[in-house]
Amino acid sequence: MPTLIDVELGALIEQQVCNEEANRLIDSIGNNQKMLACKQQFDKLTQSEMLLHQKDFKWNIHFIKDDSTVNAFCLPGGHVFVYTGLLNLTDNSSEIAGVLAHEIAHAELRHSLQQIIQQYGFQFVLEGILGINSSWLGLGLELVQLKFSRSDEQAADEFAFHMLQSNQIDTDGLISFFKKMEQTNSNQLTTFLSTHPDTRKRIQHIQSLKTSKN
Ligand SMILES: [Zn+2]
Repeated sequence: MPTLIDVELGALIEQQVCNEEANRLIDSIGNNQKMLACKQQFDKLTQSEMLLHQKDFKWNIHFIKDDSTVNAFCLPGGHVFVYTGLLNLTDNSSEIAGVLAHEIAHAELRHSLQQIIQQYGFQFVLEGILGINSSWLGLGLELVQLKFSRSDEQAADEFAFHMLQSNQIDTDGLISFFKKMEQTNSNQLTTFLSTHPDTRKRIQHIQSLKTSKN
């Protein structure tokens, strides 16, 4: 399937999410240290030579002001959205990079596109891109709550792990953030955890990647 589909579909959903979150979308990150660090890590990761779609996707990042939502997602074509509730939970730039790398991997490996096609059918996707189906209107935030399969999660974790390594970013950040998510008992965490199941198994798997490298 041509990557033009990812790009066109991603642009469509990005526009919808921006419309739906218009009141909370952060226009300028100013001198907010966490957002600056996040943007810096994002730029570093998306310039990575590991990304097959480094040039053909439209990699960009948006921040949404909502401290009670612990979530981040990546649309097809490389549009990442990060809620301030997730940023607040991170303690250092390697944790931020870990989450970003995982989300970037979902787009790069085209999981985001596959999920949407699987759920809604290719024809519906095509109608959205062509702008000939009005049921697409307002669908944005619903589309980003689709769950990835266990194997997609594992593949995204592995890709993220190698992308972090190749950028000389501490891979412990990926592990410690997921551990933190798992251990924090809060309703705030349901959003991210509901789209990212099996956290404990995934932590073990990432740790095994790490030990096999040493
Ligand atoms: Zn994931």
